[in-house]
Amino acid sequence: MLQQIGAALDEHRPLRVRNHGLIALEASVTASAKEFGNERQGKTRSAARSRERPTRRKGTASGPRSASPPPRVSRDVLRAAYEGQLKCVTEAYPSLRTFPDDDGMWLLARSSIIPGLEREATFLVALPYRSEVGPRAWGFWAAAGSCSWIGPRHTNFRDGSICAFSPNDGAWFDGGDLRTLLDLYSAWAARHLYLEVFDRWPGKQYGLTGADPLVQAYYRLRECKDNELCGCGSESRPYAECCKPSDRRMEIEGASRFLRHVPGGFSTRQPPLSVVEFVEGRSEIPRMKCVHLQIATR
Ligand SMILES: [Zn+2]
Repeated sequence: MLQQIGAALDEHRPLRVRNHGLIALEASVTASAKEFGNERQGKTRSAARSRERPTRRKGTASGPRSASPPPRVSRDVLRAAYEGQLKCVTEAYPSLRTFPDDDGMWLLARSSIIPGLEREATFLVALPYRSEVGPRAWGFWAAAGSCSWIGPRHTNFRDGSICAFSPNDGAWFDGGDLRTLLDLYSAWAARHLYLEVFDRWPGKQYGLTGADPLVQAYYRLRECKDNELCGCGSESRPYAECCKPSDRRMEIEGASRFLRHVPGGFSTRQPPLSVVEFVEGRSEIPRMKCVHLQIATR
C-alpha cells in the first residue's frame, strides 16, 4: 500500500483521503467512494483544485473566489467559518477535539494513514482567527504508550511545524475547509511513513520557495537524496540529474548565505516544548500566541 502511494506521488496522481485520514489511491476507491460519499482529495495541486471549495458552499460568508490571493477576512468571519464546519470535520476525523484560545481555535485530530498501521498520526493545529497568519500544525506518531514528533523533513525552521503545502499554491486558504487541511497533513504523514520505510521522499517537492538561489541550493544539498525528485519542484528529474551538480558548485557560498537567512540552521526544526508536553498529556494546551510564530511576533 505504501509503495503504491509513493508511486502515485511520483507520477503526480492524486491521492484521496477517506474518513479517519485513511489514504487511498484514486483508481482503487472510485466505486466505494461514490457509494459512501466519504472520500476526499489529498495533497497535490490538481487534487486540491478539483475539490469543491468550501467558500462556494452554504454557511460561509463570501462568494466564489480564486485560490489566490485570498482576501482579508475579519476575525468574526473566520471564527464562524471554522465553527460552522466542526460537525462535518468530526464526521471525517471522529477523534477531533477542539480547544478555545484567545487568538483562535486549537484542533487535535488523529489520522489512521493506512489500514493496519499500528500507530496513528496525531495533528495539533493552531488555527488563528486572524487573517493572513495561517494555521500552524505539528505532527506526531502515537502508538501504545509512546509519542514521537514527525520530522524534520518538510517541517518549518524555528518550530518544526508541518510544511505540507506552500501558502501560494492554492491548496488551502484562510477560512477554507478544515477537512482539506487535515487531509493535507494526513498525506504529508503518509509521505513521512514512506520516507521512513523506503529512505526516500516520494513525489514532487519544493525547498524554500522564493528564497535566494544560493540558499535554495544549500537547502537542496542538505535535504534532497539523489533519487528523490529535485527540490526545485521538478516533476521528472531526480536530484542527482537536476540541480545537484550546480548546487555543489555553490556549496560554500550557499552555506554562509543559508546561515544568515536561517539563524540556527537545520537544528531549529524542533517542536516547541509546550506542544510536545501537551501532545504527550503532560500539560495543558499552550497559549497560541506563545507558539505560533506569526502571532508571537506581531
Ligand atoms: Zn532541480
